[in-house]
Amino acid sequence: MIWNPEMEAMPRASLEALQLRRLQEVVRRVYERVPLYRQKFDAAGIHPDRVQRMDDLRRLPFTTKSDFRDTYPFGLFAVPVSSTVRVHASSGTTGKPKVVGYTQNDIQVWAEVCARCLAASGAAPGDVFQNAYGYGLFTGGLGMHYGAELMGLVVIPISGGNTERQIMLLRDFGAKVIACTPSYALTLAEAMAAQGIAPGSLNLRYGVLGAEPWTEAMRDEIEARLGIAALNIYGLSEVIGPGVSNECLEEKNGAHVFEDHFLVEVVDPQSGENLPPGEPGELVFTTLTKEALPVIRYRTGDIASLNLAPCACGRTFVRMSRIVGRTDDMLIIRGINVYPSQVEAALVGLPEMSPHYQLVVTREHTLDVLEVKVEVTDGFARQFGGAFDGDEAEVQELALRCRQKLLGVLGITAQVTLVPPGKLPRSEGGKLRRVIDQRRL
Ligand code: ADP
Ligand code: ZN
Repeated sequence: MIWNPEMEAMPRASLEALQLRRLQEVVRRVYERVPLYRQKFDAAGIHPDRVQRMDDLRRLPFTTKSDFRDTYPFGLFAVPVSSTVRVHASSGTTGKPKVVGYTQNDIQVWAEVCARCLAASGAAPGDVFQNAYGYGLFTGGLGMHYGAELMGLVVIPISGGNTERQIMLLRDFGAKVIACTPSYALTLAEAMAAQGIAPGSLNLRYGVLGAEPWTEAMRDEIEARLGIAALNIYGLSEVIGPGVSNECLEEKNGAHVFEDHFLVEVVDPQSGENLPPGEPGELVFTTLTKEALPVIRYRTGDIASLNLAPCACGRTFVRMSRIVGRTDDMLIIRGINVYPSQVEAALVGLPEMSPHYQLVVTREHTLDVLEVKVEVTDGFARQFGGAFDGDEAEVQELALRCRQKLLGVLGITAQVTLVPPGKLPRSEGGKLRRVIDQRRL
């Protein structure tokens, strides 16, 4: 179902006219109201009046994560703090979080785009919705909550974690739709299996999963083990939170970006030059309607490509691929760029592999060493009674195959450690950290 066909399926020519009008307005507004933008525009020698065509967007300076840090906490707001009704913050693993604010109107826009995501994922008014994204400063929980209420879902605001209780409520309240991180969806699937609950025995049909990278192989696992259709939702606090883009049930092939609110570009992470559709690069967003915290050409650090081909669902909005990496998650190992998602894509598809893996990087003298720890499936482990120490011929043979596969995909050798099921960390409700880089310690 398309939540807002008038917008989501509008002819591209009308969309572009609307975007240009909105772009001109927001550029003028930030220039007048946010000192940082005025300084940047002046330094780049560009005045808002010079934005006459869509192409002029390329001449505007980028906004970066450090701009958030430098103006912490409220310096990027384009309205007085007293005019906002909500503040969120992204976790920011190091130092101060990035603070974002919303006016009443921003909250409405946010609810609208989240309702679009839920509809694109299969939800319909009246469905019971278990919202297992974290509530709090993290945008996931409350963002989806308002979208779901707008759509008329029956919201169960359970938040992340507390797996036993999640499963009890899934059974008792009969949610048809769940939202959570993909890693947490797997945690739920495992816990259900442990309790002997068959996937088809629940009312659950649709998963709206995101907030962290995942792959097609992981989708297959989640869909099979939970008996649902699993759809990818993408967003980030600096742009709005969840609800920047979402896949459609019809094609499940790229997430439609809600382009009436968010302009998307892909640029070369090094040069900052725009890249054509199909080429992977860094996603850059400009918000077209946000009041409290508009961002102009915000560099997300997320690597993806765009696809303008028409979609079976009827939406005309451009689709973005899965996030294949993050500029700041990229590991440089012996001079080679490695993204955790490449490892996942290479290994998780193998029949003996579970979707649980971890990358550990160390430095021995001057040489970087990448160790990839992967859990095997229960089926594989069963031949050793569920436990093995790695010396077994079958285990060694499988590890060798994994090493060769990784060499082919990454171009470097990695140590592969196969571990029995259940040995690697699981998501306890939120995002899962899969990389341990001990070189920085
Ligand atoms: P935090 O900084 O606390 O993690 P955010 O929710 O703002 O909070 O994180 C946004 C980031 O999460 C994005 O920039 C992206 O890297 C990642 N992300 C969100 N959704 C997806 C998704 N569907 N696939 C891959 N990565 C995602
Ligand atoms: Zn579509």
